[in-house]
Amino acid sequence: MTDKADKEDLRYEIPTHAFIALARRGMEKISLDQCFLKNCDNNDPELLEPFKKEEFEDDQKHIKKIYVKCKKCNGIYILKLETIKRVAKSTKEKNQEPLSMGIVYALDKDGNNLGHIGYF
Ligand SMILES: [Zn+2]
Repeated sequence: MTDKADKEDLRYEIPTHAFIALARRGMEKISLDQCFLKNCDNNDPELLEPFKKEEFEDDQKHIKKIYVKCKKCNGIYILKLETIKRVAKSTKEKNQEPLSMGIVYALDKDGNNLGHIGYF
């Protein structure tokens, strides 16, 4: 894919922020516009290029993987966005919208987990 418009669209697939739960101090908001690879401190969105997307879905969750190339360390990492469709299903209120929760992980290009980033 060399079309610029497609890459711009991929950028919109990534939430701008994730939230990290802190033990007693609520939630901390962190930017996802940063490179999650070791030894890289790139947090310039201009140097991050999402270039590929994979999506999977089953009854319980929706998984989206966005491949991002970092132009600072020349590495590739994957943001894995996992949305759980039903966290708690109420049997009483049938009309209630199912609760959903998103978890974001960072993976390296071989699929090794770099860590659970937070919630979105
Ligand atoms: Zn980097």
